[in-house]
Amino acid sequence: MRKMLSDLLGGRKFVGSGLIKMNIWFMLVFILNVSLGFGYLVHTVKTDYQQVRQAADLRIQLLSLENALVDQETGQRGYLLTGNNEFLEPFDRGMQKYAEMSAILLDGAATVDEHPGFGTQIKALIEMGSNWKIEYGDAQVRKVMSGGSITETELLRSKRQFDEFRSEEAEALKVVERLRDERRTTMLHNLTYLFAAVGCVFIVVQFFMLYFLQKGLTRITLPIIQLDRAVASYESGNIRSKLPAYREDNEIGRLVENFRLMHEEMEREKNVLTETYRLINMLNQTRGLDEAYQVTLESISSLVECERVSVITQNEIRGFSIKALLYRGAFTRQETPLSGEEEDVYDLLRGGFSMIHADWSKYRAKGSITDQLFESGIRSSMHIILRKEARIFGVLNLMSEKADSFSQQDKERLELLAPMIVTALDNATETTRIRAMAHHDGLTGIWNRRYFEESLENLMLSQERDSDPDKQPFSLILLDVDRFKLFNDTWGHSEGDLVLKHLAALLEECVRPEDIPARFGGEEFAVLLPRTGTEEAKTIAERIRGELEANSPSRQYKVTASLGVAEWEDGFDRQRLIEFADRALYQAKEDGRNRVVDSRTLRA
Ligand code: GH3
Ligand code: MG
Ligand code: MG
Repeated sequence: MRKMLSDLLGGRKFVGSGLIKMNIWFMLVFILNVSLGFGYLVHTVKTDYQQVRQAADLRIQLLSLENALVDQETGQRGYLLTGNNEFLEPFDRGMQKYAEMSAILLDGAATVDEHPGFGTQIKALIEMGSNWKIEYGDAQVRKVMSGGSITETELLRSKRQFDEFRSEEAEALKVVERLRDERRTTMLHNLTYLFAAVGCVFIVVQFFMLYFLQKGLTRITLPIIQLDRAVASYESGNIRSKLPAYREDNEIGRLVENFRLMHEEMEREKNVLTETYRLINMLNQTRGLDEAYQVTLESISSLVECERVSVITQNEIRGFSIKALLYRGAFTRQETPLSGEEEDVYDLLRGGFSMIHADWSKYRAKGSITDQLFESGIRSSMHIILRKEARIFGVLNLMSEKADSFSQQDKERLELLAPMIVTALDNATETTRIRAMAHHDGLTGIWNRRYFEESLENLMLSQERDSDPDKQPFSLILLDVDRFKLFNDTWGHSEGDLVLKHLAALLEECVRPEDIPARFGGEEFAVLLPRTGTEEAKTIAERIRGELEANSPSRQYKVTASLGVAEWEDGFDRQRLIEFADRALYQAKEDGRNRVVDSRTLRA
């Protein structure tokens, strides 16, 4: 049955296949109910009807028996009274019929169980009739035939005997009629009860059938209604509506499942959009390049799941280098040149196509970069080209420790974002450059006066905040080129500029990374020396002086400078420190130039 059905349905479940199966089962139960129930009913009623029929037959047989005897008696009496032979005909016929009926009646009476003794009663009745026939019927007819005559007394005796038979027969008839009525009642009762029972089973079956049909229909219609509502609420822009919990493998189940997948996809897309807006917003707000790189990488890693994401840019001089990297949530911003082996990136940049490498184990070649990647646990990667107008600006590199980690959709998403990232990084670069310009001297490239003053201010502030008695000292060197007016007059102003650039480069070389060499104005320079006392500052100043004296941009002339050194002391303000250094510088000029003077010697 099941096989037949599934063959019929092509082995595929469809909406309502359960219902159809259930319906077939119910039809079987229905047929069983009707055939067995009504079959049994008909069988029982038929048996009962035969019993009733037998009782009715017994009654008719009894009446026929009586009629047969009546015929005999009528014939006998007529013959006795008239002597006419014609009366012998009903007499003989009655006798014959009596014999037939007796046999039938005896058989029938023997099967009546409801009235014990009925058989005996009938037997006695038949014998009584037979006795009348022998004693009176036959005997008196034969007597008249042989010429004798019958007295009135004899006739009367015959009649009495006959009447006795009739009264006995009436009794038997009552029994038979009672039997008939009883059997008819039984039949009616049986009919009623059985009909009621079969009807009840029928109703119960129908009830369950309707109940399960209703349930089955609800199972189909409910998810459709819920789906319809969900679609309606989607139309009105609400994608959070409840989805039907329907897991069946049929059209509706697949519809619900597809709708759920679509819903998830929409949720994902919504998150991506939110994340994208957040990224754009943050990129618009960022000020510095570092921050722009960090925001970019963090947003990308929240948009596309990966262990490692970096920005690689192309520089004409230095080639390819990683600008910033986010590895397992840790951000590093350090320019790292790529090894020549990373052919992949080069190829990629040359081709200008973003691409996905689904599984590095497939590209693995012994000792190559693919092998190194695989060894370091990287299984898949994605490269997104960053373009600035037509030129390739760099590449976004995403790496994952899982194979097939990146989808086409991820790639498309990032490709859409790429121009915005490029613009943001570009803007941030520009901002950083402008900011740098604001702090650097246009001619020499070293820090300018503004930056010098800001740094001095910061140093003093940290000095004031610091309650530690062993405060770090800091010093200032002021430098002024000797007789520069004369130099300009002799060698020209542009040669003078060259000297200033040379001096600035020399200053940067002579100081430590934390020191701040700045152009103070004209041909005057200043060097701020954090965590430095006078003695050390004097050494540095002396080094600068000596270097300048020994190395001039041209062999044709010699350039010297005078330097004043001052150390910061408690109670000093900015002006005071500069003033002390300036006084020392003035003293150096006074003392004959090309020398270093310590401001403390002026006060001693
Ligand atoms: P002294 O040894 O006393 O310092 O003599 P000096 O000639 O250097 O005197 P002073 O410091 O007063 O002269 C400053 C000169 O520096 C004036 C100006 O011609 C020159 N100067 C200032 N700024 C620049 C500049 O940007 N480029 C050039 N080439 N010369 C400059
Ligand atoms: Mg000067
Ligand atoms: Mg000068």
